[in-house]
Order: sequence, then structure tokens, then C-alpha cells
Amino acid sequence: MNPWTAKATILIASVAMIAIRAPHGRRSRGVKVVMSRKGTMETVLLTLAWLGFLVPLIWIASPAFSFAEYPLRASLVMAGIACLAVGLWLFYRSHADLGSNWSITLEVREEHRLITDGVYRSVRHPMYTALLLYSIGQALVIPNWVAGPSYLIAFGILFAFRVRAEERMMLDQFGDRYAKYVARTKRLIPGVW
Ligand code: SAH
Repeated sequence: MNPWTAKATILIASVAMIAIRAPHGRRSRGVKVVMSRKGTMETVLLTLAWLGFLVPLIWIASPAFSFAEYPLRASLVMAGIACLAVGLWLFYRSHADLGSNWSITLEVREEHRLITDGVYRSVRHPMYTALLLYSIGQALVIPNWVAGPSYLIAFGILFAFRVRAEERMMLDQFGDRYAKYVARTKRLIPGVW
């Protein structure tokens, strides 16, 4: 398989990711923040996630990680493309369902509503499920030990350090309604965890 297939796939997926998020990023700047839990930890985690996202783009454009290259396997690329496609679809849906309640960090916005429908019906963190699928897809498509898993590792760390703080913030804001929502849903995988 031509190595450029992997590079083209990652480039298209990265552009799609940025395009899905862009309008939400723009809109969220205009919605007032009424509670913020963005501490030093969040800043570190967000920086790490950006770096993890950037490394595959550096791999596309330069030979910086050529020492870590391994042969491309068509079966892995196909499986990876499937993960990227489902991940991007879920990334799109979760942004659409959260609407103006979305924030890049731990924030409650003015007139924040608790969303429990759409892709939020059975899992509390479908956007993180989407990012997990997306980062697994990258790890499968990119035949490089550094660039392949870079976003998976960065996102894994962000998720591990953020998820409890996010749920605590939601519980403080929405009280019993969030507690009931937690009781009837899973974190990432419907019916499993
Ligand atoms: N963890 C969620 C959302 C990620 S965006 C997911 O993976 O799908 C992070 C912000 O979304 C949080 O700071 C919080 O303000 C908001 N948020 C998270 N869950 C929400 C929900 N069920 N309803 C409304 N807003 C939510």
C-alpha cells in the first residue's frame, strides 16, 4: 500500500475534525461563562492534547519521525479508516446535541441546559468516545511508533485527569438531575462502562 494513502487519510480526517469544531469554537466565545473550573491542570491537559494532535500533522509534512516508521498494512489502515469515520460522525453529532452548552474546558455557560438526549441518551461522554475512536483510528492508520499513538496517549491522559472533575462540576450545577442521569447512563460505551 502506498504510504501516501495513510498521509492523505490523516490529513482529510484532521481537516474534518477542525471543520466540525470551528463553528462551535466561534459561537462559544460569545456565550457568557458563569462557572469556570479551568485551573492549571486543565491548561496543561489542553496543551498536551493540542501537541498530541499536532504530531501526526508534523509526520505528514516532514521526515522528523522517520526513525520510528514501520511497514504499512492494508488491514490496519482499513480498520483505522472505519474508526476515524465513526469517530468523526460521533464528534459531529455530540457537538450538534450539546449546542451552545459546549465548552473546550470545564465551564458552565449562561442558560446552560443539561443535555440527556440524542447521543447523550445512554452515555455521558459521547464526545470523548468520539475522540477515543478517532485516536485509535490514527494509531491504526499511521505506520509510525511516535506519530501513530501520540493523540491516543495525549487524549487518554486528558480523559483520565478530567472526567471526574467534569462530572463533579455537572453535579454541583445540576444536582439531583445529574445524579439521576449518572445512575441511568455509562461513561463512554453504552451498556458497558
Ligand atoms: N464530556 C462531554 C462533553 C465534552 S465538552 C462529552 O464527552 O460528550 C465539555 C463541556 O460540556 C463541559 O465543560 C460541560 O460544560 C459540558 N457538558 C458536559 N456534559 C454535558 C451535558 N450532558 N449537558 C450539557 N452540557 C454538558
